Amino acid sequence: MSVLTIEGVWKHFRGNSVLRGIDLEVAPHEVVSLIGASGSGKSTLLRCINLLETVDDGAIYLDGDEITDPRVDADQVRKRLGMVFQAFNLFPHMTVLDNVTLAPRQVHGVAKAQAEEQAHELLKRFGLADKARAYPDQLSGGQQQRVAIIRALATQPRLMLLDEVTSALDPQLVVEVLGIIRELKESGMTMILTTHEMSFCRDISDTVCFLDGGVLLEKGPPEKIFSEPEHPRTREFLRSVL
Ligand code: ADP
Ligand code: MG
Repeated sequence: MSVLTIEGVWKHFRGNSVLRGIDLEVAPHEVVSLIGASGSGKSTLLRCINLLETVDDGAIYLDGDEITDPRVDADQVRKRLGMVFQAFNLFPHMTVLDNVTLAPRQVHGVAKAQAEEQAHELLKRFGLADKARAYPDQLSGGQQQRVAIIRALATQPRLMLLDEVTSALDPQLVVEVLGIIRELKESGMTMILTTHEMSFCRDISDTVCFLDGGVLLEKGPPEKIFSEPEHPRTREFLRSVL
């Protein structure tokens, strides 16, 4: 069964349709990338999945449960998702360890000792073992974004949503964040991500979706989308970014 199914999703902002009948299925362990020009609807689609936006038509299913049903408790849905945004949103007054253990403890009711043990394991796995007691402003941008990803991972999400997680970083810091995403894929994490890093997108994605003005215009394996795109708009976009 699919981890996520999106069926005919529409979203309007003040009469402006920013998602126009999006259909998408995400299989277990699949990595799906959303590409497209700024304003094409990539972030809005991720925000609809995370229930930060309500959909105006259509439905989204997570593990077969309709999450866009208005009776659904959004907090319960978000417990099953991990989301990381462009701007690292770590709590500045809390140590790395406290940032990573906050949701497991407060949202999932994990005991402090167990949450900290898991956090130390994750920090070690991603090369940040020595930063547990550091505060966010003592870390580089790349390290902060790695902590933000680790924090999302700490609740063992069913699906990770990553929105331009390298866009705010200096080029030399991008590599370390891409490395962590690659490792997540190798560990079998199911992910939907948006990125401007086309070579990375090509390398990591099982499926690439091209959005154009809120329409999912073309979808396929990266070899197909990057080498033989069918739609002229896809070709035009790729020419502008490659
Ligand atoms: P992308 O992530 O592909 O750059 P977005 O999903 O952020 O695109 O935006 C898609 C369109 O929706 C844009 O035209 C944007 O201005 C509009 N939009 C996004 N969020 C809102 C909002 N809260 N209110 C009004 N318009 C919005
Ligand atoms: Mg965006």
